[in-house]
Amino acid sequence: SETATKPHVAVVASPGMGHIVPLFELAKRLVTHHGLRVSFLNITTEASTAQTQLLHSPDLPSGLDVVDLPPVDLSTIVSEDALVLTRLCINVDESFRCLKSVLLKLGKPNAVVIDLFCTQALEVCEELSIPLYSFCTTSSAFLAFSLYLPTMDREIEGEYVDLPEAVQLPGCSRVRIEDLLDQVRDRKNDDYKWFLYHVSRLPKAAGILINTWEDLEPVALRAIRENPTYQEIPIPQIYPVGPLIKDTEPLTASVVDCLAWLDKQPTDSVIFIALGSGGTLSTQQLTEFAWGLERSRQRFLWVVRLPSDIACDSASFFGAGYEANGWKEYLPEGFLERTKEVGLVVSSWAPQVAVLSHPSTGAFVSHCGWNSSLESIMCGVPMIGWPLYSEQRMNATMLMEDVGVLTKPVVEPGQETIGRLEIERLMRTAIEGEKGKASRRKAKELKESARKALSTGGTSYESLSCLTKQWEAY
Ligand code: UDP
Repeated sequence: SETATKPHVAVVASPGMGHIVPLFELAKRLVTHHGLRVSFLNITTEASTAQTQLLHSPDLPSGLDVVDLPPVDLSTIVSEDALVLTRLCINVDESFRCLKSVLLKLGKPNAVVIDLFCTQALEVCEELSIPLYSFCTTSSAFLAFSLYLPTMDREIEGEYVDLPEAVQLPGCSRVRIEDLLDQVRDRKNDDYKWFLYHVSRLPKAAGILINTWEDLEPVALRAIRENPTYQEIPIPQIYPVGPLIKDTEPLTASVVDCLAWLDKQPTDSVIFIALGSGGTLSTQQLTEFAWGLERSRQRFLWVVRLPSDIACDSASFFGAGYEANGWKEYLPEGFLERTKEVGLVVSSWAPQVAVLSHPSTGAFVSHCGWNSSLESIMCGVPMIGWPLYSEQRMNATMLMEDVGVLTKPVVEPGQETIGRLEIERLMRTAIEGEKGKASRRKAKELKESARKALSTGGTSYESLSCLTKQWEAY
């Protein structure tokens, strides 16, 4: 039959919706646009409701199969105080014990695609002679940093956070010390060791796919491909295949409510506030944010969660804390009543892509996770940067300085909470100010450029076609 001759690819993502969503989009695209057969391996241990819903949705394209990996018990292996990345990597480690038998059972796919934190698959793929590709779910600037990190690790003594000046990435941007990602801020922590372990192994991949497109970050891409430092490493071929973002949201009651409310607001007038799958504010910051928002008199759609000092971090990261509804008591007294004419507050989760695609949405307060950033750009919505964890500070700086679609609050060194007056100013300028309008124009320009890259003959489309041909040849 025809399916038997189509190339078959296995795709696997490490836990967390930030990884699963783009790899799953890649899987769908390979099936629908490039005629491949894809098995998506699902790490079921500690899976969130959102993950299970996405991967077990009834209307997947035919040719895409989700294969559940058996759950593993992490309780005795991961210590209570392990950080997020450590927990995630150990989960992958344990879940991959069956990887070889699963790949054999699938009849040895033509290729395996992993994300950054699944490089344990390298040895298994080598043994089975299956080429392994890595899909970088963040920016090219982040990829450049990751590829350079093993060199930094060899050449720099002491902590990176104590360096006197910014880290110069060969051939591209400088990374300010305050923007360094969490995982490299303490070299003694296990999170750093895991991060370094995976990025050191990245050059062994047969190719690196990346969720960006040629025209968004031309300088960083050129540096990775051409700069002598990276040539020495040496780096496999880079394939920008993005922006791959999730396209549809299931029409649940809360989705319908959000969209009906947006329908009643003027064009480009609403500020959407959502901090990724796990982002939360401190109690004090939540209070200041609410006051600033109210004083700005702008329209808003705000996803509110329990404050970070109340909810358990890793529970909210993995989605366990979504159901909690106790956040109401942390908002200023009377806030919901006083703002009910201009604002909609939703609990824990909003249909982000649907909200960003709505014409009433005029700005997006985002934690600058890479998926959120791409979704914002794909919808032509400018951002207000509120980076929280991981590599988000790097993303925010890049989107502001190199791309020009983002504004940031003014923060004094060492300042932990951003006050209501600054928030009020920021919200006003985002909707009414010249800077806000310039970012909006830029975002709309990029939206067109991204669509072009993805359509037949565009750069990202062609990258995937080229990979498909390679995989056919195996
Ligand atoms: N998201 C959403 N509704 C929310 C918050 C987040 O749909 O209320 C989605 C968002 O559209 C994006 C993903 O969750 O696809 C977050 O990924 P990102 O890389 O931005 O951040 P992470 O969650 O990995 O920190």
